[in-house]
Formats: sequence, C-alpha cells, structure tokens
Amino acid sequence: MSTTQNPPRQMMFQLSLRRRGISDQAVLRAMEEIPRDMFVEAADRAHAYRDSALGIACGQTISQPFVVAYMTEQLQLQQNHRVLEIGTGSGYQAAILSRLCGHVLTIERYRTLADRARARLAELGCDNVEVTLGDGFDVPADAGNFDRIIVTAAMEQIPDALAQRLKPGGVLIAPVGPHQGTQTLVRLVRTDAGFERKQLVDVRFVPALPGIAREL
Ligand code: SAH
Repeated sequence: MSTTQNPPRQMMFQLSLRRRGISDQAVLRAMEEIPRDMFVEAADRAHAYRDSALGIACGQTISQPFVVAYMTEQLQLQQNHRVLEIGTGSGYQAAILSRLCGHVLTIERYRTLADRARARLAELGCDNVEVTLGDGFDVPADAGNFDRIIVTAAMEQIPDALAQRLKPGGVLIAPVGPHQGTQTLVRLVRTDAGFERKQLVDVRFVPALPGIAREL
C-alpha cells in the first residue's frame, strides 16, 4: 500500500483520535493505514491529517476523521460483514470500511465523485469495495440485504425501505435531522421485535438528496 504520510504526523493523527475516545484497535489501525491525503483535493494535502471536514468536488465534503472513526467504531464490524454505504464522496470512509469487513457497496449520486473514488480505491488495492452511481433512497433490490448500513449524508428521517434492508441483528447508522444545521447520529439495530433506536452525538453532514445528480 502506498502511503505518503510522514510518521510524526501519522502519530499525532492517531493520538488525537484516541484522545477523543476512539479505542477500537482495528479501527485505529485502519485509520493509520489509509492515507487520507489521497482523498482530499490537491490544494488541501497539507491539511489532510487535521481533524476537520474538507471540501471536495461537486460541492460535497470529506468527513472529519473523528466522525469517520466514531461511526466505524459504532458499526462493530466483522470480517464477514456485507456493508452498504450511502454517500461515497471521496471514498475515504469506504476505504476505512474495506479494511474491517468482507464487502462494501457504496452508492454516490455524482458521477465525478463515484469515478474518482473508484480510481483511488483501486490504487489502494481496496478490491472488496464496489462503487456505484445511484440513489441511496432507491437501492436496487438485487443488491440484497446488509449486515451494516452507514449513511454519510443528512437524512430528515431514516426511510423505512432502507431500514428494511438490514439483516436480522443488523446495524444502521445515519445522521438524522434538518438539512441545514445540526443532525444527530442515530443507530438502529434490527431485532426480532423491530428496531432499537439510539441517539449518539450531534454532527453536521451535507444533505442526502434524491435521484442521480444531473450535473456531473
Ligand atoms: N463518505 C464520504 C463523505 C460523504 S459527503 C467520504 O468519506 O468522503 C456525502 C455524499 O453523499 C456526497 O458526495 C453526496 O453527493 C452524496 N449523496 C447525497 N445524497 C445521496 C443519495 N441519495 N444517494 C447517494 N449519494 C448521495
């Protein structure tokens, strides 16, 4: 795997995640191994290991590293899991997921972002990730059901059709709330009786919008 980060910077990155409460060793290792500087815009490379979201093409963002690590930790991934991500963006979250589960299907509504993410993930050898141009509000039926679902764009509510794509015992995490302003991360677990819902922390994500984007 190619990495362009220098060790002190990488150590500081790890340290800041630990300090903020990320303790899952496998998650920390994945965050260490995936070079975030490959996923940001060229002009932002110097800031790639700061704990902040950054702008990417199509007016979208790559999430803050802490939020990526936190959501990943909350998913409690296993190596045999099939995972669905809605909102590929840069592909960074998908790359982190790919180290910790069996297969990732990630859906993006902008062709430019999907194409760039696919190229980066191939370069990194993340060959268990499938990047698809599509609408996360309308996941193709033939994609089947998932052990884990992670939504990385703000939804006003979690569509029932999406929750129904969880396998029994499956976990879904999504930022839920108004498109403008703050959302709350919600964790749904599919139980025999239905769904268990828990609110986690407040976050800010770009909105989940319906349909494939008309502009590239
Ligand atoms: N996970 C990304 C960050 C996502 S930003 C990363 O690691 O970089 C949110 C992304 O969700 C944006 O790229 C946006 O275009 C996409 N998105 C918004 N609504 C969507 C939808 N209905 N289906 C698929 N992708 C969507």
